Amino acid sequence: MNEKIIVHVCCGVCAITTFRFLEEKFEPIGFWFNPNIHPYEEYKKRLQNAGYVFQKLGRSIEWDMEYSIDKWFSLTTPVAKNKNLRCERCYEIRLEKTAQFASEKGIRFFTTTMFYSVHQNLEAIEKIGNLIAEKYSLNFLPMDLRSYYQKGQEISKNWLVYRQRYCGCLFSELEREGLFNEDIKKR
Ligand code: SF4
Repeated sequence: MNEKIIVHVCCGVCAITTFRFLEEKFEPIGFWFNPNIHPYEEYKKRLQNAGYVFQKLGRSIEWDMEYSIDKWFSLTTPVAKNKNLRCERCYEIRLEKTAQFASEKGIRFFTTTMFYSVHQNLEAIEKIGNLIAEKYSLNFLPMDLRSYYQKGQEISKNWLVYRQRYCGCLFSELEREGLFNEDIKKR
């Protein structure tokens, strides 16, 4: 029997090919915790779509519905215009919760569907995941699933899965509209 792994799920689209990849060597179990998603209507839409994808996949997912947007903003707003730092804090918030869940369940491995996205900083996710794994005496599985990106998009289109137009937070929505510019170069 394959080893269980807790997989943080950022959205349904990213879960499709990530799970197909992981199923070859693990027994993956989804874990939802995304207080970064803004506004709340968007959060509910992505949550519902993730549920639909897991039904299609025939896989189980655990839901942490804590929508601690105030805590998320208090940790990320001070560095909001530095996208690298902001995303690192966002990764940390979500991966730490995932590690806590894995630890409670006695499951030694954890990872995230964010490794599927061509829009994420994979090196930063790996660095933070490893630091958290050390803290909880777990194993973090880094991956690079960007070559599956197109395939995942095609399947999500066929399945009529909602595909979001921005990463998730208010700042990323404003960046997409060109209303929130990075000041990293000025620092
Ligand atoms: S852009 Fe995405 S990863 Fe970065 S802070 Fe916003 S929601 Fe988090």
